Amino acid sequence: MSAVLKLENQTNKTISYNPATGEEIGRVENTTAEDVKAAVEKGRKAFSSWRETSFRERRGFIMKAREVILAEMDEIARLISDESGKPLAESLSMEIAPVLDLMQHFARNAEKLLAPRKINIGLYATLGRSSKIVYQPLGVIGIIPAWNYPFSIPMGEAVMALMAGNAVVLKPSELTPFIGLKIGEIFEKAGLPERVVQVVTGAGATGAALVEATPDKIMFTGSVVTGKKIAEAAAKNLTSVVLELGGKDPMIVFADANLELAAAAAVWGAFCNAGQSCSSVERLYVEELAAEKLTNLIVEKTKKLKLGKGSDETTDIGAMSSERQLKIVKDHISDFEKAGARVLTGGGSRDLFFEPTVISGAMNEMRAMQEETFGPTLPIAVFRTEEEAIKLANDSEFGLTASVWTKDLAKGKRVAEKIEAGTVCVNEVLYTHGIGQTPWGGFKNSGRGRTHGLEGLMELVQPQHIHVNRLAILPDAWWLPYGATAIETFKGFAKYFASGSPFQTSKLMPQLIRRIRELRRKS
Ligand code: NAD
Repeated sequence: MSAVLKLENQTNKTISYNPATGEEIGRVENTTAEDVKAAVEKGRKAFSSWRETSFRERRGFIMKAREVILAEMDEIARLISDESGKPLAESLSMEIAPVLDLMQHFARNAEKLLAPRKINIGLYATLGRSSKIVYQPLGVIGIIPAWNYPFSIPMGEAVMALMAGNAVVLKPSELTPFIGLKIGEIFEKAGLPERVVQVVTGAGATGAALVEATPDKIMFTGSVVTGKKIAEAAAKNLTSVVLELGGKDPMIVFADANLELAAAAAVWGAFCNAGQSCSSVERLYVEELAAEKLTNLIVEKTKKLKLGKGSDETTDIGAMSSERQLKIVKDHISDFEKAGARVLTGGGSRDLFFEPTVISGAMNEMRAMQEETFGPTLPIAVFRTEEEAIKLANDSEFGLTASVWTKDLAKGKRVAEKIEAGTVCVNEVLYTHGIGQTPWGGFKNSGRGRTHGLEGLMELVQPQHIHVNRLAILPDAWWLPYGATAIETFKGFAKYFASGSPFQTSKLMPQLIRRIRELRRKS
């Protein structure tokens, strides 16, 4: 069979194909809506004992899961490459290695990151009260990822959810179901108690069933269109959702940048994973003075890239994941050409392989500079001033990541803070999803909420405020009944106590004593 449509939905089965060869990898059952609901209910039961485990015990399971991954690394990398099309090198460098780092980080540090936190309650403390926050797990976390990082994204989210004390139900993308099942198998081999991690399979309908089954939170990664559907469906049950959506990430290159390095970064940032990264360089803005030199360097480097099967060790650019994605890339390139931009190299395709394509003369008014392409294209536009570069970069509905290239670090940081994006790198590109310690998420239509980092961990818990009165011997002045003394006392609260000043508050003492005496008399 030719590498055409990767997915076929035959009655109740999802068929997974290798996008590079069109060969069938296997078939999985589409989990029925009732079984998805049952999985969430069983997950909730498993949660009731999992939440009681200590951080030490959880750390043990996650570190064991790391060992399973390390022992099966070659097999897992091959599966990722076969099912998603990406080069073996990227299965290792962009999926397995970063998630192993994330696993050790959260296994070792979740306890510290989620340690109870004392709150300074100001003058209330002088009344013998104290407050602290403890972080309670949420319950069952529903994970619905995309196909482009089918291992590292759901695996990382599952690990963070587990370390925070939650159970997980994962619905992998219909394009990469076997990688999802592998994640379930890894936890099973690590000895995780039954039902703490469950994997359900199928396409959008299974995902929708998972949302309907009212998990306690949904971690979604995918398109804006699906993100909106999920947010709407989840709102009916007040289920909260983290949305990791699309991007149209700009790279700004000033003339004083190391152009050789910037060109290499642009080529990797635009073409790794065949351009199918949410944080791909989708628009490059170069200062006019350096435009010709940078463009030539980029074209030269792009021409050296080798297309091939993901499983081949020497492949630089693998097959795209689906025909739908390939069609968008072709449409965008043809749009660019019609609007007057020029293809400098690439533009051709064979089956699901698309040549890395560099385009010059791009302008923000062109449709393909606004919509997410999610393919191996690198359109280059020119700017003249710092202000113009910022304006062009921000002229987008998206705001996931961005990068600024200059040797002047003060300028780099100044510009970075003016870019509307969840992550902005100076002299770096794309890779920070691989730093599990840092938050990941978008501004504008690129998403809501965060994964990774402390901010991402906080999405997986609910803060609980514990307030203690150590001097519970007298009634509080604000309790019932009220009367003239109460009114006078409350005015004193407003004037003195609410000032936050101990000195001012001391003026309230005689009135406070009168009020307490009154309360004791009347009680
Ligand atoms: P998609 O929206 O088509 O599908 C994503 C997931 O949602 C799949 O598992 C799918 O089965 C499921 N789904 C589809 N309809 C559903 C519904 N109605 N209810 C519940 N689940 C449903 O996206 P895709 O094509 O798999 O992924 C590509 C997109 O993902 C791109 O836009 C890319 O930028 C984005 N992405 C974002 C990030 C990020 O971190 N921001 C990371 C990777 C990918």
